[in-house]
Amino acid sequence: MLAGPLPRGARCAPALAIQAGFSAASARLGHAGAVRVLVVEDEKRLAAGLRKGLEAEGFAVDVALDGTDGLWFAREQAYDAIVLDIMLPGVNGYRVCSTLREEGNWTPILMLTAKNGDWDEAEALDTGADDYLTKPFSFVVLVARLRALIRRGTPERPAVLSADDLRLDPATRRVWRGDSEIELTAREASVLEYLLARVGQVVSKREVLNHVWDYDFEGDPNIVEVYVRRLRNKLDRPFGRASLETVRGAGYRLSADGA
Ligand code: CA
Repeated sequence: MLAGPLPRGARCAPALAIQAGFSAASARLGHAGAVRVLVVEDEKRLAAGLRKGLEAEGFAVDVALDGTDGLWFAREQAYDAIVLDIMLPGVNGYRVCSTLREEGNWTPILMLTAKNGDWDEAEALDTGADDYLTKPFSFVVLVARLRALIRRGTPERPAVLSADDLRLDPATRRVWRGDSEIELTAREASVLEYLLARVGQVVSKREVLNHVWDYDFEGDPNIVEVYVRRLRNKLDRPFGRASLETVRGAGYRLSADGA
C-alpha cells in the first residue's frame, strides 16, 4: 500500500516540487494515462537530459535533484517507476530506496550506480531496488529496462517468513526470535531469507551461494559456512536453540519447529 499524502503543512513542498507539480498536472492533462516516472538525479544536465528523453518516449516525468525531494515526490504521487541515482546530496539513493520499502512503497526502482563507486550492485539490490544500471549508460538501454520493470508492475508486499518463533519480514529485512529483534547485516538476512523460504528442506552450499551471491561468484564457497555460523550465533545460541542444522555432505536445513 502506498503511504498517504503528508498532512497539510507537515513539510513545505520544495520550490522544485511545486514547479514540477504544475508540469505534472499539465502532463496528465496532455497525456491521459501516461506512464509516470520519477527521476532522482543530482547531476542537473543528466537529469534534464533524462526528462527530455523520457518525455519524448511518452512518459510523464517528475525530476527531483536530491534524496529529500525524491522521497517527498515518491510519497506524494503514485509512479509507475522510479529512476534513482545512488550518490545524492542529503539522503542518498540507498536510503531513499530502503525508506520507501520500509514504508510499504513497492514502486519498481531502477538504480543508477557509479562505476567504481562506493556502492556495488549487490548493495543496490539489497536495499530493495529492482534493477540497476552502471553509469555511464546508454539511454536506449535505460528505456528498455524501465519498460521491462513497468510491465512487471508493482509487486505485492511479500509475506513475513517464519519458522516457529523465528520471523523475517522481507519488506523491511527485520528479524525477530520471539519478541527479541535481531540485528542482521544485509547479507546475513539474505541467507536467512533463502533458508526460511525453504524451511524443513535441505539446501546445498552451492544453492545458497548462487542465490545470495552472484552467479559468477568465484570466491571460496566456504563463505556460506561463515554466514551460517554467524546466523547460529545470533539466532540460535543466545536462545538455547539449534534450528540451523548441518546435513553432512548435503548442506543445511532450517528446522520448522525451531528446536
Ligand atoms: Ca549523483
